[in-house]
Amino acid sequence: MTEIDGHTRVYGIFGFPVTHSLSPAMHNEAFARMGINAVYLPFPVPPARLSEAVLSLRALAIAGVNVTIPHKERVCAMVDELSDEARLIGAVNTVVHRDAKLTGHNTDCSGFMASLAEDLHFDSQGKRILVLGAGGACRAVTAGLCLAGAAWIGIADMNPEKARGIAELFAHRFKGTQLASFVCEPGTLSPWLPTVDLVVNATPVGMKGEVFEGYDWRLLAGHAVVYDLVYSPTGTPLTRALGAMGYRAADGLGMLAAQGEEAFYLWTGKRPPPGLMKKRLEKLVSRE
Ligand code: NAP
Repeated sequence: MTEIDGHTRVYGIFGFPVTHSLSPAMHNEAFARMGINAVYLPFPVPPARLSEAVLSLRALAIAGVNVTIPHKERVCAMVDELSDEARLIGAVNTVVHRDAKLTGHNTDCSGFMASLAEDLHFDSQGKRILVLGAGGACRAVTAGLCLAGAAWIGIADMNPEKARGIAELFAHRFKGTQLASFVCEPGTLSPWLPTVDLVVNATPVGMKGEVFEGYDWRLLAGHAVVYDLVYSPTGTPLTRALGAMGYRAADGLGMLAAQGEEAFYLWTGKRPPPGLMKKRLEKLVSRE
């Protein structure tokens, strides 16, 4: 780490809990390698104290923060302005504090699209995509896919009302993409599996080794690919299972690195050396 002095700029992450976050390691590595006099710290912010924490950015001249679970949605109303993506998605994962103004961005969206291109060489233009899970990550993924010109996006969740709400929101905004919603269960989704080019897991299934029970993934077309937002050093249950059947599959480590690279660029105007953040994450994850 660069020596801390009176010029050191402070960045960080607001979350609750935040002890598990891999972001401090990847950002501090990039600051150190690039000789930037800055430090990135974890800030455990309980939900009831989020507005105080956002005010502290001004009081303490903190230059920027990432925002993670459970604050991504509520912070939207606490910043001075939102980027187009953050407004569309309804969630902020990066705040930039510049010229006394707080701007909320969402780099999960561009991070997902960057990783999809880099790790799976997938171009979403004109493609059919099934997204499992209708939470905040689904909204970021769906925004990226719509902006990239996907032809059809099906959203499936245990709670079909949540899936329908997101499908309606994006159908209204993006006339060139057809949106559909489903309850997430094998009987409902099986007829759709042969029709899609990409399946995205935006649920937490796999974080503790769980699997999607009862799906016959062999129904997918041979060219179909799978992106799992969950990550694991040895692959997630979904990427391992589909990889063994011959499908190309990527986990979410690339997205985590790419959203971090984008936040770093928004804060500093500089891009970290390619691959630096991802390599740092791979090292950290393999130690867990
Ligand atoms: P979230 O807001 O909790 O949304 C997850 C959604 O999935 C919820 O609607 C949930 O329903 C639903 N769900 C849970 N289990 C399900 C199942 N078995 N079948 C169908 N739907 C199910 O979480 P999120 O913020 O969107 O994050 C989702 C996942 O993406 C998490 O694992 C997160 O760690 C990961 N993520 C990764 C990155 C990255 O950089 N790689 C970035 C963002 C998120 P209920 O609300 O009813 O439980």
